[in-house]
Amino acid sequence: MRLSSRVEKIKPSETLAITAKANALRAQGRDVIGFAAGEPDFDTPVNIKNAAIKAIEEGFTKYTPVGGTDELKDAIAAKFKRDNDLEYKRSQIVVSCGAKHTLYNLAQVLFDAGDEVIIPAPYWVSYPDIVVLAGGRPVIINTQEKDGFKMKPEQLKAALTKHTRAIIINSPSNPTGAAYSQEELKAIAAVLLDKDIFIISDDIYEKIFYANFPFINIAACEPKLKDRTIVVNGVSKTYAMTGWRIGYAAGPEEIVAAINKIQSQNTSNPASIAQKAAVEALSGDQNIVDKMVSEFQRRKDYIVDALEQIPGVNCFSPEGAFYVFPNVSNIYGRSYKGRKITNSTELIDYLLDEANVAAVPGVAFGSDDHIRLSYATSLKNIEEGVKRIKDAVSKLE
Ligand SMILES: *Cc1c(COP(=O)(O)O)cnc(C)c1O
Repeated sequence: MRLSSRVEKIKPSETLAITAKANALRAQGRDVIGFAAGEPDFDTPVNIKNAAIKAIEEGFTKYTPVGGTDELKDAIAAKFKRDNDLEYKRSQIVVSCGAKHTLYNLAQVLFDAGDEVIIPAPYWVSYPDIVVLAGGRPVIINTQEKDGFKMKPEQLKAALTKHTRAIIINSPSNPTGAAYSQEELKAIAAVLLDKDIFIISDDIYEKIFYANFPFINIAACEPKLKDRTIVVNGVSKTYAMTGWRIGYAAGPEEIVAAINKIQSQNTSNPASIAQKAAVEALSGDQNIVDKMVSEFQRRKDYIVDALEQIPGVNCFSPEGAFYVFPNVSNIYGRSYKGRKITNSTELIDYLLDEANVAAVPGVAFGSDDHIRLSYATSLKNIEEGVKRIKDAVSKLE
């Protein structure tokens, strides 16, 4: 069958594919420990669920304005003021069906054929394909582990061309957990100040943060860039609300209006009920977030340490998010029963077959030397899973 050239240019999300494969094996009765999923294992907090139940009971079940209700936009504006010291009007905020949808919409309104979009690697799996679907061209900057997986200003300078249209900054990062400090962002901002390019700041892991410096995004860090920065965020990760599908963007009025236009011709508004839940998430008790984050931090400390104890594995210590991205390249070249491991995909397949552990190959994020493990699963699973990895790796020779 002939499909559009557009769809032929992209691949399905690898993280979702591996999660589906692990689930299928579980359904067959295999005891698989999953480190692949990119979502919190916690339940959505009860006050948020109740807000949704109330919305249903009150009949708040119809179309809303395309870009979200004024009530939710006001809650988002208040969040930006409270957490980021950034001011936005309603006309500068748009709500979509998850931050992934927000990013997709943004790419559709910003990029044309030939436009280059700078993406530092390791990157979130979906960025390059979202750019390609819009006709743009991803330009990858390979950050170094020794630089804490952070882009150096010189690397950015070298990647800029007259076709550069935008850069995507994701701090804290999925998959590495690296987060930029204010000084580091200032140095990046300095390179961008006299360039006419947009900055997309994906702040989805803003609250899942462990560094000994405060979270900041580039718009707050360099006010002169605020007019060219689109801040993307959502409730999925912070409030354990991945299934509710609420993401949002704040930025220049013209871009927000263009996103509204695109959205009016595809999804229309995000679910009315989920919008009510998001208002409660952003405006209600925030202590629930601290509780989840301290549990994530406990697991992070454990898993980094446990992985480091596996010979051949080196694990960068994340500053945020809920993933570890251990370097496993020292294992490459070893074999078990004639099966040789030469890259991250082969290692992931081996771990699934021999250890019943599901994780994601680093190559999906632009680094074949690594694998990604999500620690959004119980400490008990983490202990057992890492033990299995250790046993499987020790069998390789
Ligand atoms: C999970 C994730 C998103 C999208 O989350 P939604 O559920 O679509 O709101 C965006 N960016 C990164 C880096 C993510 O990990």
